[in-house]
Amino acid sequence: MIYVEQVGEVTKFRMARTFMGRGLYFTAAYFVDGLLIDTGCAHTVSEFMNTLGSRYVRFIVNTHSHEDHIGANKAVQTKFGAQILAHSEAVPILADPSTKRLRPYQIVMWGYPQSSTATVIGEELETEHHKFRVIHTPGHSPDHITLYEPDRGWIFSGDTYVGGKDKALRADYNIWQIIESLRNLASVDSTLLFPGSGTTRDNPREELLKKVHYLEETGRKIKELHSRGWSRHRIRRKLFGPEMSIAYYTLGNFSGKNLVRSYIEDSSK
Ligand SMILES: [Zn+2]
Repeated sequence: MIYVEQVGEVTKFRMARTFMGRGLYFTAAYFVDGLLIDTGCAHTVSEFMNTLGSRYVRFIVNTHSHEDHIGANKAVQTKFGAQILAHSEAVPILADPSTKRLRPYQIVMWGYPQSSTATVIGEELETEHHKFRVIHTPGHSPDHITLYEPDRGWIFSGDTYVGGKDKALRADYNIWQIIESLRNLASVDSTLLFPGSGTTRDNPREELLKKVHYLEETGRKIKELHSRGWSRHRIRRKLFGPEMSIAYYTLGNFSGKNLVRSYIEDSSK
């Protein structure tokens, strides 16, 4: 299932695998001025190609190499001869996505993408009418980048910014790097935030700082309880309550336990 919406000059595609008439987990792609930012998952490729129609794609930028952002790379590249650009650490993964073993829930929701040929993105990307700056925003993944268009104040942040108050984290995310990346994005002049979830925000700095504040405050509480000798399990129960359902269907890959662990073990570099 795909929803298309025009946000000023930017076309937003929100897409998800359909199950019993409902979208399982939505992820967004954005199109502006011949540039496609992310391409959805493997399950939505043909529907996405139909929806994209005759919009000419000159460049694809993948914010990161996760399977729900690179699914239609190959199809779009084949149809338009588009140049794919991504972070240096993402390029080999795009060339062979099977090197990243997917867990059962990832296969159900998103599936394995086809391989595609990308080149390493520079510090800037120029389309016909816009100039985008590339900002490295690790934490969600080491190969995560954000595109920033200073004239318009657009921030295409991929999965760096996820709305809401996190009570779980994936095992391979780094919470301190996420906080640092969000802080970096909050420091630029901006008017619109285009996140990977598709829920655009017209007050980016406020939203980003609100998120930073929540995550830092949570980190402060965790470190304090940890220094008092509390176990990670007890800290998690006290601050987040019982594990959410996501911890069960991801077999513990996304969990409150991982969120507590990342605050205690991971560093910001
Ligand atoms: Zn991701």
